[in-house]
Amino acid sequence: RTGSDAPAGEASRGRRLAESAARVIPGGVNSATRYIGEPYAFVSADGAYVTDADGRRYLDYHAAFGAMVLGHNAPVVNDAVRAAVDGPGLIGLGVSELEVELARRVVEVIPSAESAISTMSGTEATFQAVRLARAVTGRPYIVKFQGGFHGSHDAVARNVISAPERAYGRDPLSKGILDPALDATLIAEFNDLASVRTLLDRHPGQVAAVIMEPIPHNVGALVPTQEFVEGLRALTAETGTVLIFDEVITGFRHALGGYQEVCGVTPDLTTFGKGMANGVPIGGLAGRRDLMEHFNHTGGDVLLAGTFNGSPISSAAAIATIDHLRANPDFYERTHALGQRMRDGLSAIVADLGIDATAAGFGGVFALYFAKGPIRGYRDLMRNDNSAYVAFHRRMTEAGYLMLPMALKRNHISGAHTAEEIDATLSAAADVLAGMR
Ligand code: PLP
Repeated sequence: RTGSDAPAGEASRGRRLAESAARVIPGGVNSATRYIGEPYAFVSADGAYVTDADGRRYLDYHAAFGAMVLGHNAPVVNDAVRAAVDGPGLIGLGVSELEVELARRVVEVIPSAESAISTMSGTEATFQAVRLARAVTGRPYIVKFQGGFHGSHDAVARNVISAPERAYGRDPLSKGILDPALDATLIAEFNDLASVRTLLDRHPGQVAAVIMEPIPHNVGALVPTQEFVEGLRALTAETGTVLIFDEVITGFRHALGGYQEVCGVTPDLTTFGKGMANGVPIGGLAGRRDLMEHFNHTGGDVLLAGTFNGSPISSAAAIATIDHLRANPDFYERTHALGQRMRDGLSAIVADLGIDATAAGFGGVFALYFAKGPIRGYRDLMRNDNSAYVAFHRRMTEAGYLMLPMALKRNHISGAHTAEEIDATLSAAADVLAGMR
């Protein structure tokens, strides 16, 4: 599967596409982390597989950064999208049946959701959540965790995968963010309640919200301890701080009710995106009615605006995804079992080979850290051998198993993966890891 299929002396189709992309799109990609080196360009996707522009097929664990939960091009979702295109044809006027149906489902399946709004991306959802928290509390600061990613807007675009000297310090993801916006976001350590308490004590009555990925999958998979999530709930309730679970990755993937269903801890607000509509653009915010009512255009005081919010096409795709998951609860049993099979297999391989690496993850999400366990917080990830991590993922991709060849990213098992495919992946991983010793 490696090497170019193009005749000698001729650039591959993928490379040609990348070159023409770079002439009209800055850097040739529409989102910073999409550039993964080769393969450059993809032309089709189906179930658990994607095909690149040069005709190579890969078993896909990248899954569009986790937007694919059921697998690529899931027929139930495609049928619903087609029906929405052929159907109402309405957008952005009053309210459509589909957006109401979607909100009803969110309220039914998400434990913390008393009412819900739709956006077009996860970034917009976390933006609205943070603004809402500031509006209702009248407080300026928010707390996020080192390693957590919540989208590209100014309140959250800092301290994800930081160079060691910048971790926990001032580490914006971008220039152009005003200092006051950056400095109103405080950085805590995941799985360390004391680090949150310290920030709340340092700024008494000034912290509007704590925003967290319940499992920070943007650095692989840091699984929270039960004491940590319960402690956070108690601490935020005690201090009148809004607790926001950013379930853009964990939502619908780990359980129909998200990670809050798994851990039994109820946040005040929850954000969604990615897998909610199985790859069709969408985001969402749900939560306590008294908070959400601030968005009410009559009497509320927080602006909710978006031409494409509640799009019939996105709503139809999300309804189809949620209904499919609801009708097939064994989806979770299967993907969790496959994820465990992958983690157990990887653990056995690295133990056999005597490599200092730790298989981590939850449900159908897995990561192989190149650091000795246990891995609890971001601090432990600073011991990760990033170059070994990148090399492993790169070699797996070359072998036909598409993984995210970037430091500390996770991989996703969808409803379309099978046990045989997991075993084939493990056998390729054993070869790759043996070659890396
Ligand atoms: N929140 C989390 C946890 C994410 O992983 C992401 C995207 O990677 C976002 C929010 C932003 O979502 P979007 O890319 O749809 O704006």
